[in-house]
Amino acid sequence: MAKYRCTVCNYIFDEEKEGYAFDELPDNWRCPVCNSPLNSFVLLSEGEVELEEGEATVSEILVAQMVEWGIKYVFGIPGTSSLGVVDAIRKSKDLKYIQVRHEQTAAFMASAYGKLTGHPAACLTVAGPGATNLATGLYDASLDHSPVLALTGMLKRQLIGPGSFQEIDQQSFFESITVYNKVLMSEEQTTTLITNAIKHAILDKGVAHIGIPKDVQEIPHTARTIPFEGSFPNEAITQPMFLILQAAQAINQSKRPVIVSGFGAITQGENILELAEKITAPIITTFRGKGVVDEDNEYYVGSHGDIGSTAATDLVLNSDLLIVIGSSFSDMTHLPEKRAIQIDIDPLMIGRQYPVEVGLYGNSAEILPQLMDLVQENRKDDYLGEIRELKMEWLDLLDEEADGGLTPIRPQYIIKVLNEKLDDDAVITLDTGENAWWFGRNFWMKKTQKMIMSGYLGTMGIGLPAALAAQLIYPERQVVCITGDGGFSMVMADFVTAVRNDLPIKLFLFNNHQLAMIMQEQMVEKFPNWETELYNPDFAAYARDCGGVGINVKDPQELPEAVDKALSIDKPIIVDIETDPRRFI
Ligand code: FE
Repeated sequence: MAKYRCTVCNYIFDEEKEGYAFDELPDNWRCPVCNSPLNSFVLLSEGEVELEEGEATVSEILVAQMVEWGIKYVFGIPGTSSLGVVDAIRKSKDLKYIQVRHEQTAAFMASAYGKLTGHPAACLTVAGPGATNLATGLYDASLDHSPVLALTGMLKRQLIGPGSFQEIDQQSFFESITVYNKVLMSEEQTTTLITNAIKHAILDKGVAHIGIPKDVQEIPHTARTIPFEGSFPNEAITQPMFLILQAAQAINQSKRPVIVSGFGAITQGENILELAEKITAPIITTFRGKGVVDEDNEYYVGSHGDIGSTAATDLVLNSDLLIVIGSSFSDMTHLPEKRAIQIDIDPLMIGRQYPVEVGLYGNSAEILPQLMDLVQENRKDDYLGEIRELKMEWLDLLDEEADGGLTPIRPQYIIKVLNEKLDDDAVITLDTGENAWWFGRNFWMKKTQKMIMSGYLGTMGIGLPAALAAQLIYPERQVVCITGDGGFSMVMADFVTAVRNDLPIKLFLFNNHQLAMIMQEQMVEKFPNWETELYNPDFAAYARDCGGVGINVKDPQELPEAVDKALSIDKPIIVDIETDPRRFI
């Protein structure tokens, strides 16, 4: 009998108590507490985790506790100071270990896993260099509020201090990256420390780290695991009615409201669309918020900010009220100072860049339906007409840009072809650089697709590891990575991890032989172009050498067929596309 967790509010669906199987629930079933859809739930555990009779080791109890709390994957590289934990994972039938070729990949995979599911996966390394190699991936998780459990081996307790082999001040090293950072010094703490770590990762939305000295890993110990239920608050948080009424009144008075939806509201597409229709308001997303509604819906007009549409910029500029939901007002989103109401589950995000008229601290899954009941239906035909016209102008511009007759291939054309051919429920991972810039600007998502990226850290190299994690989570779905020659070459050793684990990810590599975004910046800032060109291997040949499939595309006419082929092959594949590094000609 399995248990499932609602990642929006923490409600537990227990098959045994409910009397029916989660898999048999109808598609329109909703969380009984926060009304979120089925896809907001993650499998927590298959039931009680049985520890073998008698004594186990600290590592075995640690693993049993992780399984009971819904950890399914550990990404890492085994080594001297983690062998006890590695062996306990080997013995577990429920915890899957994925070996990677660099610890950075492990951390990126865990970060992506948290972003896609709302539940943590773990990464595990040795002391010293293994631990420090996690830093960039963990920082990505930290800044994007992705729950991650980081475990590192440490030296034997009696060796910590004098400066032994692979000894660093691990505790201090992780301090600035984590929301919880402890060392497991005694067997008595095993279950409380690991459950506290997972709790902090989920509730504080960040990285929890536990260092485990080598000798502690192997101490014999007996303990019962702590159940998940009863350990978490429900997070269907809302506000007193008079505050929601104030927000509703502001909306009722507004003639030109605009909804700005961020990653925090990514599960709330239905509510957001309903609100947009009731009050006649265009929907704009942040980059990370893309895909909250079908982007061909007439109310959606594009993203705001660096990758934004002219329609979004125009409507925000001329708006008399912004309704900002689950967005942290990043400086990349460039929202101007306007009258605003804001809904956010993180109280510190309220009024982050400038004061707002009404700040509603709580869960948009709860607050949006309450707000909806209080706002008046207000059909503004002129406004809707203007919204349609602005969107049309923007789409015409994108269409004009996507010239399929030019060589090297224009990035806008690649995005256009991918837009036409990707599955309606594809999971798309973006690297950082021009490839992501073009995706954000020119790709129009379906609400059934998912997209993840490195939002705040903006780290290169995340595309491939994120695709590996995505394909593990969604084995039946098409997983597509949009990457560049700069980002991919930082992590390319782990393409073999896709091959080894039969993860048929599709990589579309915008090969422009440049760090093209930096080339662009040098030009804008009037620096001579210098040291941005990249000397590359043949990435398609590399894919084949790894045991995957590789396709080179140089002629734009061959691109549609190459994309069709790549999407139809059930193997990891790199499509190495000779791409124009220039933004506009
Ligand atoms: Fe819920």
